[in-house]
Amino acid sequence: MFCENCGSQVAGNSKFCEKCGAPMRAAGSAAVIPPPPPQSATAAPYSRPAYTQAPGYGPAQDEMTVGKWMITLLITAIPIVGIIMAFVWAFGSGAPLSKRNYFRAILIYALIAVVLYVIVFVVLAASLNIQGLFR
Ligand SMILES: [Zn+2]
Repeated sequence: MFCENCGSQVAGNSKFCEKCGAPMRAAGSAAVIPPPPPQSATAAPYSRPAYTQAPGYGPAQDEMTVGKWMITLLITAIPIVGIIMAFVWAFGSGAPLSKRNYFRAILIYALIAVVLYVIVFVVLAASLNIQGLFR
């Protein structure tokens, strides 16, 4: 084996270099010392896209997991409570952005449906009244 300090040949079992006195590592001890971590592991930790770091877009804010959606859909299936919670999630500040937008879209469709029902009802009622008048 060779000295790591000066490069001269040293007897295999000696603890120190005979030429320069540097301590010799025993054969096989090199494997015990952990290798330095790869450069890529320490270079840059994973970072979220810039737009997700804006206020109100925190990691916990926009995280809608499958479990959370399942609980959400379960609550919406409850009569009355589901409708109230849809309004709370759509217009409250507590719900994640994806959930808020989803229930805003749902309520917009519900509003369109209500308006159409009212129009149809008024038209039907008017036509029935007209028929009644001419009877
Ligand atoms: Zn040496």
